[in-house]
Amino acid sequence: MDFSAANGSSRNDRLLLCCRCPTLDCMDFTYLDSAISKLPRRRIGFYPTPFHALPNLSAAYGVNLFMKREDLAGPSAISGSKMRLAEFVLGRAVDAGVTHLITQGAYLTNSGLQFAAACLSARITPILFLTRNVPRHGQLAESRGNYLLNQTMGVETHVINLTGDVWNDPEPAARVADAIEGRKTELEAQGHKVFIVGPGGTHPDAFVAHAVTFRELLEQSDAAGVQLDFVYHTIGTGTALPGMLAAKLAMRHPVRFRSISILPYDDGDRMNPGVIVERTKAVLATLGAPVPDDATIRAEIDVDQRFIGEDYAVPSPESTAAIRELARAEGIFVGPVYTGKGLAGLLDHARTGRIPAGSNVAFLHTGDTGNLFEIPQVVGHIAEAKSLT
Ligand SMILES: *Cc1c(COP(=O)(O)O)cnc(C)c1O
Repeated sequence: MDFSAANGSSRNDRLLLCCRCPTLDCMDFTYLDSAISKLPRRRIGFYPTPFHALPNLSAAYGVNLFMKREDLAGPSAISGSKMRLAEFVLGRAVDAGVTHLITQGAYLTNSGLQFAAACLSARITPILFLTRNVPRHGQLAESRGNYLLNQTMGVETHVINLTGDVWNDPEPAARVADAIEGRKTELEAQGHKVFIVGPGGTHPDAFVAHAVTFRELLEQSDAAGVQLDFVYHTIGTGTALPGMLAAKLAMRHPVRFRSISILPYDDGDRMNPGVIVERTKAVLATLGAPVPDDATIRAEIDVDQRFIGEDYAVPSPESTAAIRELARAEGIFVGPVYTGKGLAGLLDHARTGRIPAGSNVAFLHTGDTGNLFEIPQVVGHIAEAKSLT
């Protein structure tokens, strides 16, 4: 496909900006920007998010480590990768005259917090249906972390206590779905217009958002004179990878993605590579880019499930160590539920040679810092027990 007619930029600009490929069937920044600019979007965060080197950790591991800071996406200091999703979902919701947006997640949800903040900014009323795994975390006894922040924003929250696994068991999942449907019906009877967004910010309008993240990452790494070999990130509900992967394929960039999962990710699991393939194809179609066959997309997906630990939202020793290591080397914080586990995977790969020495590696910091202020059953013991008092 020849994109040159679509963007009108000169061949020289294209080579300067584009992905080093000699052919014309490759999307460049101008074309990507033009495709994205046609989509409804409510601007809320501060973009582009920063990109910077991690010099001390790089020296310790013999690889060149960089960080892309979705945790700093705004509008507040506690942010993350869901804010970009919210911008595209709310663009559509505002156009449609939506008054209330209902979403769901664990009681410590990052996406719920970011969607709630985004909704308030767009004058839409957020409602959260939150599940609490009582055997793991006990009854909700005090407001901490993201839950405290949701309460501070005055968000309507419904906490549903569960003993089973809401993610995999049909019974608790049905209870949550019924509760959401009931609240929606009530609101509609009062004349309101309600939008429902899935757990983790999943929504068909959302997946294109992180194509922009990848575009920023390329521009920023190019400006730093760095050709990225790997992008590492923590994968859960699969909202960031499809957009990034679609942009990588459309722009024919050689970078490899490595996803460290916090949930099981095999074929047959609720989240699995096939879901990522389908979402990636949908983003490519949205961008108007060629859609390769499934096997080509699947070959780009590399999920490492060895860092899940005991369970979702249960701290692992590797994650606790990674949180401390980054904090002590660089003064930067990752969180216990997602980004600590993701960083633990990256550091393990660097230690064991799965990242070749001298590689250029970006870690996508997707947020999770609010969970540093959770109960010990969630955050673990990130500070050493020793104290000077
Ligand atoms: C939601 C979330 C993830 C996982 O994101 P997906 O791209 O949807 O798999 C990773 N890190 C943090 C901090 C999150 O909140």
